[in-house]
Amino acid sequence: MRVIVIGAGIIGLSTAWYLRRLGAEATIIDPAPAQGASHAAAGMLAPAAEVVWGQSPLYPLMRASAKMYPDFAAEVASAAGADLGFTDAGTLVCAGDRADLQALRELRDAQSRSGFATELVTGSAARRIEPSLAPAVAGAVHIPGDWSIDPRRVSAALLSALSADAVSLVRQRVTELLKDGDATVGVRLADGRRMEADQVIVCAGIAVTEIAGSPELPIREVWGDVLRLRAPAEVAPLLTRVIRGLVNGRSVYLVPRPDGEIVLGASSREDGLSGTPAGAIHRLLADGQRLVPGILDAEITDITTRARPGSPDDLPMIGRIDSGCVVSTGYFRHGILLAPLGGRLGAELAVDAASDWPPDGTLQSVCPQRFTTADTTTHSARSFS
Ligand SMILES: Cc1cc2nc3c(=O)[nH]c(=O)nc-3n(C[C@H](O)[C@H](O)[C@H](O)COP(=O)(O)OP(=O)(O)OC[C@H]3O[C@@H](n4cnc5c(N)ncnc54)[C@H](O)[C@@H]3O)c2cc1C
Repeated sequence: MRVIVIGAGIIGLSTAWYLRRLGAEATIIDPAPAQGASHAAAGMLAPAAEVVWGQSPLYPLMRASAKMYPDFAAEVASAAGADLGFTDAGTLVCAGDRADLQALRELRDAQSRSGFATELVTGSAARRIEPSLAPAVAGAVHIPGDWSIDPRRVSAALLSALSADAVSLVRQRVTELLKDGDATVGVRLADGRRMEADQVIVCAGIAVTEIAGSPELPIREVWGDVLRLRAPAEVAPLLTRVIRGLVNGRSVYLVPRPDGEIVLGASSREDGLSGTPAGAIHRLLADGQRLVPGILDAEITDITTRARPGSPDDLPMIGRIDSGCVVSTGYFRHGILLAPLGGRLGAELAVDAASDWPPDGTLQSVCPQRFTTADTTTHSARSFS
């Protein structure tokens, strides 16, 4: 089976990875591979810490994908001969001061109710675990099972492994899905060329609705600004695990990489501004230094602004839209975490692979048609009838 994958972000690349495992031929089309939201992402693999957002249908997906991660990362790393910056050192979610403690306790209660193993520790216990934490940090939730990975390394490794596995990459923009009646049979490229395939899978992130013939999905752009820092050699490593926190009720995080880089993020804006607002960077530095004062001695090596592909209910949209086309987008804040699950699910839907996977209810909760019809069950079948 010949499959075209539109988009070489983490979702298109992981979909192509699983397509190859299912024996399909894959061609990826993207004018700027791995430069979308996946380029900005901090790479937190955080099913427990993300419970704060209160979306219970998302938890089983995050949990299932987190479980797939060690094998997925090890296989991609081995195929590419690359280090993906994967760390399983855990996460501390900190209260910036006593006023943020109540919100932290509520977060911990919600995590416990959802079945995650977490522990509430005092500020001084948190500083024993991470000595760079500020004296004002009033307490923390310790989450051993929330890990991190470097998404830029993952994308580069997937591109390299897929290229070595006969997957071609066409550096072009797709302008249109070609149809035969209601069925997608290929794509038209910006240079006018037509490419045909047995199946097309659209993994174009926020740009999915810009492709003529694509379904009208309710994608929202949630802009995020993020900094990359490097601490001076004499204090490195400044941190050994992910530090998330609440500072005056605002979320902030610091994600250390094994190579010494620290990612400080992230804003969350729906103002449509694609540039980087100075105020967003100011707030990140101010909130970040309330948790880890040492970051003010670090060098800023990169500032990136990208839009997360959000959906109205913050769950992804993965499903068949006609007999020749599957869509896989809307991964919002969780596309790096959900890449193994979303990639495998999209690939299986495209080749109509029989499987007793994924977890119960997944196809219904991610059904792309759930916003346009009350009856999602008819749309969640693997084959479009
Ligand atoms: C600041 C920030 C921090 C984040 N941190 C985390 C995190 O810690 N953990 C986590 O799990 N998630 C995180 N996310 C979310 C995550 O980055 C996204 O959910 C994920 O990257 C979405 O992947 P994607 O492949 O769908 O989209 P993208 O990475 O945006 O890829 C889409 C690709 O499609 C291509 N494309 C678009 N239109 C066309 C076309 N017409 N033809 C061909 N190609 C096209 C684009 O060039 C792009 O390469 C973060 C996001 C941001 C912005």
